Amino acid sequence: LIAAAGADASRVCGVGLSVPGPVDWEAGRVVEPPIMPGWDRYPIRERLQDAYARHVGASLEGGPVPVLVDNDANLMALAEQQANHRDCCAFVLVKVSTGIGAGVVVDGHVYRGIDGGAGDIGHIRVHDRADALCMCGSYGCLAAVASGRALAKELSGAAGNAASGSDVRRLLAEGHPDAIRLAREAGRRVGEVLVTVVTLLNPGVLMLAGDLSGVPFMTGVRELLYQRAMPRTTANLQIVTSRLGDHAGLIGAATTVVDHLYSPERADARLAGILSPQSGRP
Ligand SMILES: [Zn+2]
Repeated sequence: LIAAAGADASRVCGVGLSVPGPVDWEAGRVVEPPIMPGWDRYPIRERLQDAYARHVGASLEGGPVPVLVDNDANLMALAEQQANHRDCCAFVLVKVSTGIGAGVVVDGHVYRGIDGGAGDIGHIRVHDRADALCMCGSYGCLAAVASGRALAKELSGAAGNAASGSDVRRLLAEGHPDAIRLAREAGRRVGEVLVTVVTLLNPGVLMLAGDLSGVPFMTGVRELLYQRAMPRTTANLQIVTSRLGDHAGLIGAATTVVDHLYSPERADARLAGILSPQSGRP
């Protein structure tokens, strides 16, 4: 990537990586990711650090290059909050593409919960679809009935070959009537879960992102939220769609690297190095 971008490898500060699954942030590993079979606790960080050392060299500060791995919805939420909603102290982004996930940014920081599980709303069971098999192995998950993958499954046949969220995005862009109807229905399903999310977190902005996040889906979400949530919960809530689009995850990954470089702990460590008498510097 560095070569393809014509970038100067000596100026790389770190690597940010977005993955579509729950992440153990401290360890830099994905944990039981339903749509990444075979990747459970794979040492992504170490593998990338080794590859970087072999093909590029040492990091800017010597030692292994910092590699920061996070869930895609978390990174998208961080990027969108920082770019356009800096004043919003409670921000929620829901990504509906092949799977469904949410990222929560509180006071400018991603809220991950105690082990990275926060926002993993795709596998909440919905009440009336016990027959729908999910990629996680359970039945009746939200993702099994309202994700891009679920819609693609319902649409294939009627709309040619559809297999993923991006196929559904294409059909929606073409104005395919069944796709529009199903997207609105999926919005209502996701909205049902979001009633609890917004009641618990009382966010200022609820952003919809991913392949399905167009007008029909948003209409379904609004319908359910305004119907079922208490008026007070939605009085100051903005429901919006993504501004950064497909770049959000990338920008969020870069933001995470920058946040890491300028974190108070690292700044303290650098200052301690400069101020210590052994360093031989003033
Ligand atoms: Zn599931």
